Amino acid sequence: MRNILLIEPKYKNKYPPIGLMKIATYHKILGDNVKFFKGDLKDLVLDQLTESCIGKLNKIEVTKKWAKKKSIIREFIKTKKSIHFDNLDLKDSTYYILLSNSIISFADIYKKKDYTNFPKWDRIYVTTLFTFYWKVTVEAIHFAKHLVKRPDQIFVGGVLASLLHKELEEETGITPNQGLLDRPGMLDPNIPEASNLIIDNLVLDYSILDEIEYEYPTGSAYFTFMTKGCTRKCAFCSVPILEPTYKPKIDTIDKFTEIKEQFGEQQNLLLMDNNVLASPNFSEIIQEIKDMGFVKGATFIEPNQLDISIRNLKKGINNIAYIKRSYRILHDLLNKLRSTTQQNYYNILDKYALIKFDTTTKEGLIGAYEEVKDIYERFRRKIPKQRFVDFNQGTDARYVNDDNMKLMSEIPIRPLRIAFDYWGMREKYENAVRLAAKYDIKELSNYILYNFKDTPDELYKRLEINVLLSETLGLHIYSFPMKYIPLFGEEAKGRDYIGVKWNRKFIRAIQSILNVTKGIVAPGRSFFEKAFGKTLEEFHELLHMPETFIVYRSYFEDMGLTAEWRTSYRSLTEDEQEVAFKIIESNSFTDCYKFTNNKKILDLLSYYIIKREDVNEIKDKDVDYKQTKI
Ligand code: SF4
Repeated sequence: MRNILLIEPKYKNKYPPIGLMKIATYHKILGDNVKFFKGDLKDLVLDQLTESCIGKLNKIEVTKKWAKKKSIIREFIKTKKSIHFDNLDLKDSTYYILLSNSIISFADIYKKKDYTNFPKWDRIYVTTLFTFYWKVTVEAIHFAKHLVKRPDQIFVGGVLASLLHKELEEETGITPNQGLLDRPGMLDPNIPEASNLIIDNLVLDYSILDEIEYEYPTGSAYFTFMTKGCTRKCAFCSVPILEPTYKPKIDTIDKFTEIKEQFGEQQNLLLMDNNVLASPNFSEIIQEIKDMGFVKGATFIEPNQLDISIRNLKKGINNIAYIKRSYRILHDLLNKLRSTTQQNYYNILDKYALIKFDTTTKEGLIGAYEEVKDIYERFRRKIPKQRFVDFNQGTDARYVNDDNMKLMSEIPIRPLRIAFDYWGMREKYENAVRLAAKYDIKELSNYILYNFKDTPDELYKRLEINVLLSETLGLHIYSFPMKYIPLFGEEAKGRDYIGVKWNRKFIRAIQSILNVTKGIVAPGRSFFEKAFGKTLEEFHELLHMPETFIVYRSYFEDMGLTAEWRTSYRSLTEDEQEVAFKIIESNSFTDCYKFTNNKKILDLLSYYIIKREDVNEIKDKDVDYKQTKI
């Protein structure tokens, strides 16, 4: 049995790491011990040292329940502060010297990084995502090298690893895996049991998501693909590199049934297909989705999660995950109960030492289950919820026709995402939206790529079309502008790339607007006109507006400063505009007086150097401001 560690670096992301979930299944089939971690890897080390320390203390003094002091032991190992040591109350123990030496030795191991001398993991996988997470990803790989027994047993894969494989190899010395694990025996050619396993076809191990603190915002959903790859090769897209072969139909129903049986029924269906409409098997795909229970109007009543969790705990499927999950489920209900029922329920949890997570054990949970299961069943949520299907990578308007839109309308699709990547797609895009309306699909959403070869005006016009279409067809079309970042090279490693028809100030302006709206452009006209302007002229003015005025729009409007700035901005002659815009578009105002001595221009530029600290009332909103990154 090998010890396998799966790492997702500590970036924020929406969707769980599907690849790692399949690799977890793979290693469990081979009988390996698997752990998933996302976050600061120092915390993982601390957790392990704490566990080892408790194990040692248990051997020295068996009568004490050391696990109850887990948090204090962890804090001491981390900080070596005497206050935590004192809180352990070791003084009265006959074994004081042994106990204290032991705890101090673990704190020293952490401080001096001696844990790198006795690595625990036989193999470590690091998944990677967007290329602009380069820094945090590289840090995770470097750290992983200290945790693995043999450096050749670090496996790195995923989007960044496939796109920047050479750079990653140069930086870390690890040769990344490019593309999919879609051939038999790719990871362990010498292990006979592995030789027939195609990792990409395996069922996802949902249980690993309960091992970590991070919560993916997707909620209860099946994550799957009905197709792979794409038939096109758009220059701005990584799919043709990551999944070069288009697979028009992947059988899903068996995996779906397996997931349902093992992890419980999920509410929604999240399909990560890149171009499902390109598939000649689209009608079969829709039929399979219906067979999974996703028919129009389908509802979902959450299954008894405590039953599932305890059942899996009894079976020994991922104890760490199901201890955490069962604990959370029990405490969620505890907070909802009232009066004597709550007290009785609390007493049962207390009896089995389940009030604090530190003292919660598998045995305690299984014991308490028999006593709380009736209360749980009686009070758990059973209200039916709507089920939805979401092709979350978007659909291709160029493949939309009457037939496939009709088929799409037979499943509870929400939202229907249609890509509107560039202005030249306008006719096809509008046609797709009109067909959606014809078949009564009312919730739409679209990805709007900008900062590629487009102009700012084309971004505005694409957003405006959605407002118009929403109004005329009675739809709700939400737009998600997505900033283009190159796929390769140094510029792919960060978010600073500026498209040929864009400049730093305009990018910051769009990011500032989107920061206020949480990245979404809602369908209402008044919202759109306020955020982006009523006309292209107003939009241009907004793009040139000082950034703080955009982020704290109402504040500066109420103070009258926005009106003052506007008067100054509009008073410039064409020649003056040329000079002023060059400075504004560079988004650098510290030395602007060096470039002009024109009083009108300098007066306008003075609004751009209003510092946040100058305005007391907005200081507390500084977090929003700092998050406005290009
Ligand atoms: S159609 Fe979509 S998935 Fe396919 S290459 Fe173009 S952007 Fe990528």
